[in-house]
Amino acid sequence: PRNLSTQLRNQAPLRCGRSLEMESQKPMFDVEKFDDEFVQKLVYDALVWSSLHGLVVGDKTYQKSGKVPGVGMMHAPIALLPTPFPEIYWKQACEVAPIFNELVDRVSLDGKFIQDSLSRTKKADIFTSRLLDIHSKMLESNKTEDIRLGLHRSDYMLDEETKSLLQIEMNTISSSFSGLGRLVSELHQSLLRSYGDHLGLCSERVPRNASTSQFADAMAKAWLEYNNPRAVVMVVVQPEERNMYDQHWQSSVLREKHNIVTIRKTLAEVENEGRVQEDGTLIVGGQAVAVVYFRSGYSPTDYPSESEWNARLLIEQSSAVKCPSIAYHLTGTKKIQQELAKPGVLERFLDNKEDIAKLRKCFAGLWSLDDPEIIKKAIEKPELFVMKPQREGGGNNIYGDDVKENLLRLQKEGEEENAAYTLMQRIFPKVSNMFLVREGVYHKDQAISELGIYGAYLRNKERVIINEQSGYLMRTKVSSSNEGGVAAGFAVLDSIYLN
Ligand code: ADP
Ligand code: MG
Ligand code: MG
Repeated sequence: PRNLSTQLRNQAPLRCGRSLEMESQKPMFDVEKFDDEFVQKLVYDALVWSSLHGLVVGDKTYQKSGKVPGVGMMHAPIALLPTPFPEIYWKQACEVAPIFNELVDRVSLDGKFIQDSLSRTKKADIFTSRLLDIHSKMLESNKTEDIRLGLHRSDYMLDEETKSLLQIEMNTISSSFSGLGRLVSELHQSLLRSYGDHLGLCSERVPRNASTSQFADAMAKAWLEYNNPRAVVMVVVQPEERNMYDQHWQSSVLREKHNIVTIRKTLAEVENEGRVQEDGTLIVGGQAVAVVYFRSGYSPTDYPSESEWNARLLIEQSSAVKCPSIAYHLTGTKKIQQELAKPGVLERFLDNKEDIAKLRKCFAGLWSLDDPEIIKKAIEKPELFVMKPQREGGGNNIYGDDVKENLLRLQKEGEEENAAYTLMQRIFPKVSNMFLVREGVYHKDQAISELGIYGAYLRNKERVIINEQSGYLMRTKVSSSNEGGVAAGFAVLDSIYLN
């Protein structure tokens, strides 16, 4: 059930003075008019606030900062002020969140669709092939997942020319920054409470963001459904993780609000310490695991040896609730995104025509590389396309002249390798001057933004327990950079200012 309370929660109470119409006539705020002294004051307050409230990441100059909590901390890279975002598109993005959640669930149940859609990719991409092998094994043994937990983030850019909200991708594994996202919104609200008058901004136009607790609540409910009071939540982590505080925020809410214990294990540790009992219970380090929350396992580098693959398979074979299951994981691939955008495909998974129309409205142009006409076009105008391999975590896409070069190379090398990629229409969001703060210093940059909407979904067999929009995250990057990953060092964390 998509509940009304979620919708209401999305709407910032608009109690500020001026009317929305008046606001939207002029630029929200002009960064040119602030002098350095004033901006430095804001930066100082933002740095203090971040340090006191845990809006932090590991500092890469400290060797131990990815391993030992509390050692080598740095404020998270942030936008100093929230980025203006039109309210109608914000509402549109919130509205489709539960529909996308439902779509992922439906697609995940169609094993044949997943295998068929990725069958050519399987030959060209060894990583996807390994994931598909695990998926096949589960299909062969008729393994079903009764309790299904999805913690997603659907990312969008607002295309300036067509004025449309277009989906960049749907993340179904390791959707990051639900822990820090809430804090960025709160930081911006706090700054606007102090400086709003001077800035001409009202803190209440930054929508409330409960991303941390909504994800934690969903995990807690999944834990309840699993129904073993002694079982723990296991976060699958990378051996070194400078974004650990984002994850610890989640665990902290689980412990303090829900009294649920979290353990953190790498895939290698799961291989060493893990086993599955005859009744399906996953035991790791002597503890039963109710929910497995993957914050690793989405990239080939997360599987340096067979041990990690064994661990992934072991988890999948168990009765623990997996966030995500192998089927949810594969449903989030770029290839499936592209298949879903083909005419008639959404209709196979969703019944409601209005819902289908709402999703389709967010789809950008997506093509496979076996379409000669689009290849020709992309070679002629590569700047209008992005070429994507089946990867996650940022830094993997191909842009500009490299698109042309790669397409020409693939044309020579023959068909097979084609299937490793999808082509996507390049989206061009509005460029504006913004203050980006990294390592204590602010820069005024030409920047563009990408809005991520979190979605939580939980069901047990036929019973949908949660299906809601669960907060948001804006990410802003200098417009000259193609990629957008915060952890990858391209972007900063941001929130939105409704206009
Ligand atoms: P990943 O799973 O690695 O995050 P994405 O599809 O999100 O892959 O691409 C990474 C980044 O590349 C995005 O955050 C965005 O900044 C940029 N990007 C991706 N697709 C497009 C597109 N169609 N138009 C413009 N920029 C894009
Ligand atoms: Mg992704
Ligand atoms: Mg992305």
